[in-house]
Amino acid sequence: MDCLFCRIIAGEIPSNKVYEDDQVYAFRDIAPQAPTHILVIPKEHLSGVSDITPENSAIVAHIFEVIPAIARAEGLTNGYRVVSNCGPDACQSVPHLHFHILGGRKLGETMA
Ligand code: AMP
Repeated sequence: MDCLFCRIIAGEIPSNKVYEDDQVYAFRDIAPQAPTHILVIPKEHLSGVSDITPENSAIVAHIFEVIPAIARAEGLTNGYRVVSNCGPDACQSVPHLHFHILGGRKLGETMA
């Protein structure tokens, strides 16, 4: 298993967990780009958004149920941004599907 996030899920690499269930793991980004910066990942290894199919997309719906619950728990009452980088042009650095939750301050108006 050479996937960094699979190793985090397995507990082989430490992380600052904020949420876990049987399908999803969420933890604080090691290099936060906002006061709150959390990564939400499926426990199943998918390389990124481009790996989502009709057969496995239920996990994405579940992740998008978990995200607002995490945001509420983090007190992000004034809004937040959800980002998923996919592939080299988007500068994806870890090839395991993940959604960034960014918040805790007014974020920039541009996304690219
Ligand atoms: P991306 O560049 O969209 O693939 O996002 C990968 C994110 O993973 C980056 O924001 C990194 O800071 C973060 N990251 C990398 N290694 C770790 C780690 N060991 N624990 C927590 N976050 C990490």
